[in-house]
Amino acid sequence: MDHIRIGIVGYGNLGRGVRKAINQNPDIELKAIFTRREVGAVAENDPFMVHISKIADYKDEIDVMILCGGSATDLAVQGPEIAQLFNTVDSFDTHAKIPEYFEMMDKTAKEAGKLSVISVGWDPGLFSLNRLLGNVVLPEGTDYTFWGKGISQGHSDAIRRVAGVKDGKQYTVPVESALEKVRSGSNPQLTTREKHLRVCYVVPEEGADLKAIEETIKNMPNYFSDYDTEVNFITKEELEKNHAGMPHGGFVIRTGVTGDGTRQKMEFSLALDSNPEFTASILVAYARAIYKMSKEGKTGACTVFDVPFGYLSPKTAAELRKEML
Ligand code: NDP
Repeated sequence: MDHIRIGIVGYGNLGRGVRKAINQNPDIELKAIFTRREVGAVAENDPFMVHISKIADYKDEIDVMILCGGSATDLAVQGPEIAQLFNTVDSFDTHAKIPEYFEMMDKTAKEAGKLSVISVGWDPGLFSLNRLLGNVVLPEGTDYTFWGKGISQGHSDAIRRVAGVKDGKQYTVPVESALEKVRSGSNPQLTTREKHLRVCYVVPEEGADLKAIEETIKNMPNYFSDYDTEVNFITKEELEKNHAGMPHGGFVIRTGVTGDGTRQKMEFSLALDSNPEFTASILVAYARAIYKMSKEGKTGACTVFDVPFGYLSPKTAAELRKEML
């Protein structure tokens, strides 16, 4: 079997997830994990761990680099740097900045004769594919995306910055009645508040003013003030016991009409016990596709919209026609 040699850049939640996902794919082999931190501090005696300053030494040993840095600040720097040397897959998820990031990656990868697929994951990623599918199949219709129930990293960070808060987690929860309305096909116009609920679990500092914390969270602009927000105070032990996981998920729904007004509905949903492990599994499948496309001579940047579905699979086109059509 043709082995695809993979490098992981960045060893956080996603990086660790990619390592596990590679173990489930016999045609894919882990070559090295690159980190900006001191190697021994990230993992002791791990033969795969390499300091990022040595990445160029692996130019001929790695077919595809999976970039697992954060979207907020890491990828805008690491993406173009690494695309000069390797084919890449990343999960850049700052939706508003995707066009700008694409242009930068496209230019770099084209000049280097490499191929980069950007913004792979579930949103952007699998949800994007389903939004596109909904729009082309039902050109007369309405799109709905609901997220959750899941932990929002950004909102959890915002809670932790409130005075008197020791620790906290925030779940984004889709409003069940809104989902039902959408599924009924009545094409409702829904406000931000009507679609999602924000549920917070907060560990207060000793002697903190709980009422003040609750008010500050509920009225926080951009994060909570546009939502119905629930604030629950719990102990550090309860937070660690009941809220340590990284669940997420959501729904992409398109309702519309065909013919003379015949009602139709498409729905795609995810319920994930681990957001990073699931996202990592998607990245690994796209690494396989990028490997095949680069062998065909494709260069520059692309997105999930440009990758043929069958290329994600280790099976041949003939096998897929027989087994999955
Ligand atoms: P992390 O914060 O866990 O890791 C990001 C980077 O931070 C790592 O690559 C690592 O780089 C560094 N890092 C990790 N742990 C530590 C630590 N203890 N101390 C210092 N540095 C550390 O982020 P995630 O892995 O959870 O997520 C990465 C990105 O994935 C997110 O920003 C998001 O954009 C994207 N994502 C996309 C999804 C999608 O659907 N498209 C879904 C989920 C996530 P280094 O090893 O070099 O130090």
